[in-house]
Amino acid sequence: METQDAREAAFVKARLRMVEIQILQRGVTSQSILDAFRKVPRHLFVPQEDQAEAYDDYPIPIGFGQTISQPYIAALMTEKAQLKTEDSVLEVGTGSGYQAAILSRLCKKIDTVERIPALGKQAQKMLSELGFDNVFVHIADGTGGWPDAAPYDAILVTAGSPSVPPPLQLQLKNGGRLIIPVGGSWHQELQLWIKTENDFEMETIIPVAFVPLLGKWGWAGERYRNEKD
Ligand code: SAM
Repeated sequence: METQDAREAAFVKARLRMVEIQILQRGVTSQSILDAFRKVPRHLFVPQEDQAEAYDDYPIPIGFGQTISQPYIAALMTEKAQLKTEDSVLEVGTGSGYQAAILSRLCKKIDTVERIPALGKQAQKMLSELGFDNVFVHIADGTGGWPDAAPYDAILVTAGSPSVPPPLQLQLKNGGRLIIPVGGSWHQELQLWIKTENDFEMETIIPVAFVPLLGKWGWAGERYRNEKD
């Protein structure tokens, strides 16, 4: 039977290979980002029965119809956010907590919002156990952002939205970056919005396929907007 040490060594090997082939060779070259992906144990953020696939080149189901994003897409979003060590960052769509763990190694403080309570609680538990103590998980509709800690240097939305939720634009600092998949409910384009003095600059990055952002300013917005605040 495989020993625990051999199992851990296999995960480390798979993780280094993931960084080299899926991330570095596709053009994400920032050393600090590559190091974060080399250090965070992605297999602990997927269901136990799927751990052997944790470092493969695709998203993995995490329950409740949700997924942990493909490693390359998580790395690309991190790079496009142009993060600095003093930044405070908002993530919308905590999911497994993996992207938040990556951000935790690169920035000062991360607020991350998840609408499914069981996922948020599980993510917070894993992040705390692993010592990512600058990450704060909130259970809420993240299409409204997290105004208590705004404004942010960067906002990453890890679910696909029909349009950019206005509260997220409002919660960016001047010079702040918003990365968000915008488009249909299953296929979108990844967009980078940068807040300037009086306006926004927008750049499209690549086509992506995220699960839907559900909420007042996302999909099914009419239903949520008709509810009393
Ligand atoms: N970043 C995650 C990770 O590293 O595992 C992956 C996120 S998964 C692709 C998208 C997540 O967005 C799901 O967990 C989903 O429940 C969540 N979500 C969808 N709509 C949301 C909303 N309005 N507010 C907060 N979270 C939302």
